[in-house]
Amino acid sequence: MQLPQSFKISVAGTGYVGLVAGVCFAEVGHQVTCVDIDKDKIDMLKQGISPIYEADLEELMRKNYAAGRLTFTTDHVRAYKDADAIFIGVGTPEQPDGSANLSHIATVARQIAEAIEKDCLVVVKSTVPVGTNDKVEQFIHDFLVHDVIVEVASNPEFLAQGTAVRDTLEAARIIIGTESRWAEAMLMKIYEPFNLPIVSVSRRSAEMIKYASNDFLALKISYMNDIANLCELVGADIQDVARGMSFDERIGSKFLSAGIGYGGSCFPKDTKALAYLARQHGYNLRTVHAAVEVNNDQKTLLYKKASNRLITFDGLKVAVLGLTFKPGTDDLREAPSLANIPLLLERGAKVYAYDPVGRANFSQMYPEGEYNIKYVDRPEEGLIGANVCFIFTEWDEIKAVQPADYVALMRTPLVYDGRNIYEITEMQDAGVEYYSIGRAAVV
Ligand code: NAD
Repeated sequence: MQLPQSFKISVAGTGYVGLVAGVCFAEVGHQVTCVDIDKDKIDMLKQGISPIYEADLEELMRKNYAAGRLTFTTDHVRAYKDADAIFIGVGTPEQPDGSANLSHIATVARQIAEAIEKDCLVVVKSTVPVGTNDKVEQFIHDFLVHDVIVEVASNPEFLAQGTAVRDTLEAARIIIGTESRWAEAMLMKIYEPFNLPIVSVSRRSAEMIKYASNDFLALKISYMNDIANLCELVGADIQDVARGMSFDERIGSKFLSAGIGYGGSCFPKDTKALAYLARQHGYNLRTVHAAVEVNNDQKTLLYKKASNRLITFDGLKVAVLGLTFKPGTDDLREAPSLANIPLLLERGAKVYAYDPVGRANFSQMYPEGEYNIKYVDRPEEGLIGANVCFIFTEWDEIKAVQPADYVALMRTPLVYDGRNIYEITEMQDAGVEYYSIGRAAVV
């Protein structure tokens, strides 16, 4: 069968994954409809406003919307009924026992089954436990209303927030998971205009590739943090250690930075979900458990250090620089700020928080009037008269603060840096009392 050059694609979910995928599919020439249950998000999107902060996304979105290749709707029936392919990019959040919550996936599967009126390929982009694609296919067949052929393929997403558009258009690889020749050919054709390496495997292997990749990265981070903590105890410097390690091609130079642990919506939940999957099969995934344990301790390491240094936080003015889990995103999910700021507030601190992008989301959870917290427009504003400063995110605006500024602006220049953004010597020369990760303290 001859496949067309461009396809009618619908995408379920307009979050970080779904919206970026939809926009990029439109950018390469497909006809795309993005669907969400959140009416406010769809209204914003129709006005050309991206509900998430992601470099280049809004510009590309407006361009393709204007070109008529991209539409947004809450009407899933209209969006799904005659689509060639439906990509699912809804959330699979963590449940209290660590397993992935598949209720959004199930809802979309049912909506698809009830809506489609022609043969269709359903593609699961969301991160789902191994075996889920099989269940989604069965579930859709169970609820099908019309006499059509539906197949389900796995196509896990590897974008990183902050560089999501680039990561999609220039992905290192595209993973296609299917046992069906038709589904494989269709996905190959959909991705042809991207001109990227494609790895075609079974559905279960594709599902596992996603978890194995994310958990490997989480392990790498936790390993470096573990070594960083040991460096501090034995008088070595983690940055020198990482630099020395990075020349070894077997190790690679990326993901060797020590810090206050990984956050975001993926590594924390995907480590727990894989450990849960292993447990279900009677296997103890010890390496991943260790990564989770190290990460949990790492998040509040600086708070614990500061608690040992200060008698109390009660009445202290605390500057917090950085709220999001990393720069380049507005996402606060599992951000270290959320582990530390409640502790500081509980202990009576007055928090002055700065973040160039994450402030709006954070202030919804911790409004100024309700909590002893004030949001400032510039990092320097938060430092004025502060007794202590915590750095949680390495935004450029925060890296631009000079060592001398801490001395000039703070009541006591006491800085806890969770991202190792300063050289030890420059803080020493400026006269800052400086604690970071895996390096000597400047006292
Ligand atoms: P998100 O929470 O940002 O977005 C999910 C969207 O789905 C929301 O807008 C929600 O309203 C919508 N939704 C829920 N039910 C729906 C339904 N029935 N129909 C249509 N829309 C519906 O999630 P995300 O961060 O984009 O992650 C989505 C999935 O992709 C997860 O499985 C995640 O693990 C995976 N993933 C995320 C990233 C990332 O960096 N965020 C990277 C790779 C993979």
